Amino acid sequence: MVPKDNDNPLTSLPSLDTLLRADPLVPILEKYGRQAATDSLRKVLGSFRELPDTIPETSSAIAETIAQHAINLLKRQERGVLQAVFNLTGTVLHTNLGRALLPESAIEAVTLVAGSTSSLEYDLSTGRRGDRERGLVERIIRLTGAEDATIVNNNAAAVLLCLNTLAKRREVPVSRGELVEIGGAFRIPDIMKSAGCRIREVGTTNRTHLQDYEEAIGPRTALLLKVHTSNYVVQGFTATVDESELAKLGRAHEVPLMTDLGSGALVNLESFGLPHEPTPMEVLRAGADLVTFSGDKLLGGPQAGLILGRRNLISKLKRNPLKRALRLDKMTLAAFDAVLKLYEDPDRLVERVPTLRHLTRSTNQIRAQADRLGPAIATALKKDWSVRVEPCQSEVGSGSLPEAKLSSYALAIRPIERRRGAVKHLADQMRALPVPILGRAHDRALLLDLRCLDDETGLTEQIQQLEDAT
Ligand SMILES: *Cc1c(COP(=O)(O)O)cnc(C)c1O
Repeated sequence: MVPKDNDNPLTSLPSLDTLLRADPLVPILEKYGRQAATDSLRKVLGSFRELPDTIPETSSAIAETIAQHAINLLKRQERGVLQAVFNLTGTVLHTNLGRALLPESAIEAVTLVAGSTSSLEYDLSTGRRGDRERGLVERIIRLTGAEDATIVNNNAAAVLLCLNTLAKRREVPVSRGELVEIGGAFRIPDIMKSAGCRIREVGTTNRTHLQDYEEAIGPRTALLLKVHTSNYVVQGFTATVDESELAKLGRAHEVPLMTDLGSGALVNLESFGLPHEPTPMEVLRAGADLVTFSGDKLLGGPQAGLILGRRNLISKLKRNPLKRALRLDKMTLAAFDAVLKLYEDPDRLVERVPTLRHLTRSTNQIRAQADRLGPAIATALKKDWSVRVEPCQSEVGSGSLPEAKLSSYALAIRPIERRRGAVKHLADQMRALPVPILGRAHDRALLLDLRCLDDETGLTEQIQQLEDAT
């Protein structure tokens, strides 16, 4: 081979200024702006300097290649922090994937207040300052029959606010069986300490009796706390004290009872064929003075924490300066209001609230969908993979109804010839798609549980883009 005129390919690299004027760079400057384009070119030039062997030979090819690298870099950076994904994991309320999806009407309500000034804290009838929560709280009261209510950023905030307001520097008896952890960042003992109250542990891990609470109550007791152990179950030789007994005890000693319910379904889930989950209304009827729960678990709304209960206690919560720090933003408020409005028409609730729709989809429906999609997906994956429709079990997720298994169907994708790491490799590739597809590995297969799939065409389009990669 004839040696090049110049042995050092580095000298053939154009300067930044030359590149910025080169034809292939014009559209990049236009699209991403001068600053971002310059930064990306610097990075690309830097990497060519480190690997001079990769520099193309002709100057026109150099500019083209550099432009292409710069575009790839800029596209990667342009991606938002949050990407839409297909949740085919089989976990309906997946905390890592954003829990509940909002109904259409809630999305419209969010869009409206996001782009328009609104009557957030303005009373249009008097022309004076209004209360940002009032309308929403009235709706909650109408729906639940609670005496009063207030709302904060999430249920962890709701628990913190209640404990800090009602039990700061005082004692709160709580069963040892209820000192739970709900995901790494939320542990009942930690939140109690952060709220400034003293934990008075009563009973044992598996058994707690009314007498245990009774013995713990003293002059420094501020509040009785009951925590719904939403994400685990204690089985075997167990005993717990229910709300009605605790409430009676509390009243006898003039100590209020608060329940952290966690999921907080606003409807009776048994009517949809799901296991029973205590509702906030049941807890209040049993005698609790306050109940807290999440907005984005079984309720199917935005992230929020609701507090329902006695008017005098709710008034105290509202006067705590923490309340201001934990208040809802206008987009959440709009979304929540729209979701609660749907609860006023229970007959059409399931078709309108995506979380409830996904939780209650019939296995026949899911199976039919799997039968429809299987062949298209097999074709897209080509001959190396077998795609079978198989029964599987989905979960509710987010620590709600931990024992409930929902019969579902999945597309089970297996390599035709067993290859080490093949399933993991396929899962990696699916995660790298423009709209990543998240399944779960099980029994040497990648399972795509179709329970939460709404957009069939979208899924097929993504899988077709795998073609070159597999
Ligand atoms: C989920 C849960 C929480 C935390 O609620 P967030 O809305 O995620 O802050 C607190 N307590 C219980 C019992 C829960 O299940």
